[in-house]
Amino acid sequence: MLPSRTFLLLIFVICGGCTALYLAFFSYYKAEELQAAKGRLALYKSTLESEIERISYFPYVLSKDAHVIAGTLRKDRHSLNLRLKDFAERSQLDAIYLMDVTGLTLASSNYDQENSYVGSNYSFRPYYQQAMQGQMGEFYGIGVTTSLPGLFISAPVYAPNGTIAGVIAMKLNLGRLEEAWMKAGESVLLSNEDGIVLLSSNPDWRYKVLFDLSAERRSEIKAMRQFDKTPLVKLNWSNTNEYQATVNNVPYLLVTQDMPTRNWTLYFFANERSIQVRTWSMLITLIVIISLLFAAWQFKKTRRIGAALRESQADSADLREANRLLAIEIEDRKHAERRLQRTQDELARTSRLAALGQLSVSVTHELGQPIAAMKNYLTAAEISQQPPKVTLISQMSGLVARMENITRQLRFFSRPGSKEFEAVNLQDVLKGSEELLIPNLTAGRIQYGFHLPDHPVIVRGNKLRLEQVLTNLMRNAVDAMLDEEERLLQVTISHTKTHGIVRITDTGSGIGQSTIRDLEEPFYTTRASGEGMGLGLAISTEIVKEHGGMIHAENREPKGAIFIIEIPLEEETENA
Ligand code: ADP
Repeated sequence: MLPSRTFLLLIFVICGGCTALYLAFFSYYKAEELQAAKGRLALYKSTLESEIERISYFPYVLSKDAHVIAGTLRKDRHSLNLRLKDFAERSQLDAIYLMDVTGLTLASSNYDQENSYVGSNYSFRPYYQQAMQGQMGEFYGIGVTTSLPGLFISAPVYAPNGTIAGVIAMKLNLGRLEEAWMKAGESVLLSNEDGIVLLSSNPDWRYKVLFDLSAERRSEIKAMRQFDKTPLVKLNWSNTNEYQATVNNVPYLLVTQDMPTRNWTLYFFANERSIQVRTWSMLITLIVIISLLFAAWQFKKTRRIGAALRESQADSADLREANRLLAIEIEDRKHAERRLQRTQDELARTSRLAALGQLSVSVTHELGQPIAAMKNYLTAAEISQQPPKVTLISQMSGLVARMENITRQLRFFSRPGSKEFEAVNLQDVLKGSEELLIPNLTAGRIQYGFHLPDHPVIVRGNKLRLEQVLTNLMRNAVDAMLDEEERLLQVTISHTKTHGIVRITDTGSGIGQSTIRDLEEPFYTTRASGEGMGLGLAISTEIVKEHGGMIHAENREPKGAIFIIEIPLEEETENA
């Protein structure tokens, strides 16, 4: 996957930041190093100058010395040699020596050493020539006799008549300064007006040339044998800018200090690598600190996010719990609504039945009178022994029977429900209903069978009312089977722990898509007009409810219907 733009930007910013920090640290350490280098250089300059100043007037003083003046007259050389040796030792000089006007050394502090100056002629040396012109002479060079470098300082020696009678000179070894630079571990060099390195903490650099020398100048230097046989090779260095230089490809910070009195220059080379090391270590330390701080911040942030996550998880758990409770409440409300709806339905039904009850009172009253009258007429006709017309009689009795049926059914509503409940054996109830129905069963050629337990099933109820229910249901079953070939009615009595159960099964038309709620509606019937009023199930349901029970209806496989009545057992009712 390619890194995102933000990631690239972050890398860029980090790199940029590190570079800026590196440059800032580098320039800080560089400035610090330059400052320190300037301080060291000023110190070296003053040391060098004071070392030279210490003895610069010594040749002049000696030129006035009576022994020295006498020496030019070649008098008592030995005691002069001793005297010069003593002076040289006390003033830490390499040599003090006296030359005559031709440059020949007459007496010298190193008279007794192997490479003594005595007898040597130094007329080619500039310091001799300067003194012979009546001036103080000064010259840095390698000794042609000793091959040791040093600063030569000279003064003319005047005879009592005022003429120059000789030259007194001395040689100062500056090697001790070089040693001090070396010990300090610093890279320092001193160059003369020709750019030739006179002194250096690094011996390889000594007598190297910093700048190109003209051939003319080279021959002049050769003539005065300033550096004797040393080849004066160019130093491998370059001065890139004011404070930057490389020597033998090693980068240095460069600080220079001019010494105008002698046209000399001091060079101080500070190692740039040490600045780079200090810069890198500072940068790495800073990066490590920043990384640690960042890691600590990230750690804190992760913990904070974790805590927030846990909190939100707890919140969502609370929310889920609240949702669950809400769902339960909604379900409860739905239940309550359904219960309310059922109660309202029940109320409507009860009020319909109440209205029906009133209706039945009046219908019973209205029908009762003519029926009684018709019965009386028929009885009278029988008594009169006159043969009545057969058709009339049969029509009338059919009419009477139908009207009687109507009144019987309607009477149920007019009669207040008997509350006289007792222990009733369901098997006895079935027996009573069977007796009532035998004519229908026979006429309808119904095959029937009862499946009864070998013990009584006792419920609490009114036997007659329960008989009415069973009779209704069995009659419905018979009626439903009249058009069928197979006509089998089965009644089973059983019980659960709490209820007695009567199951009436037929092989009739079945109840189709209807439910018991549809069928039990008063006046709901599928019979032809005059054959049923649709009150049987309404009455039966009402009776069963009075008993604290209920009726179910369902289709039977493959054909027919099953009606189930549940009535609480006697014991259950007592317990309750
Ligand atoms: P009725 O018998 O006067 O029609 P009911 O209330 O007894 O009134 O019955 C209502 C209706 O229920 C019947 O018209 C009939 O359609 C249906 N029914 C009742 N019992 C059965 C049954 N065993 N098989 C099929 N349908 C039945």
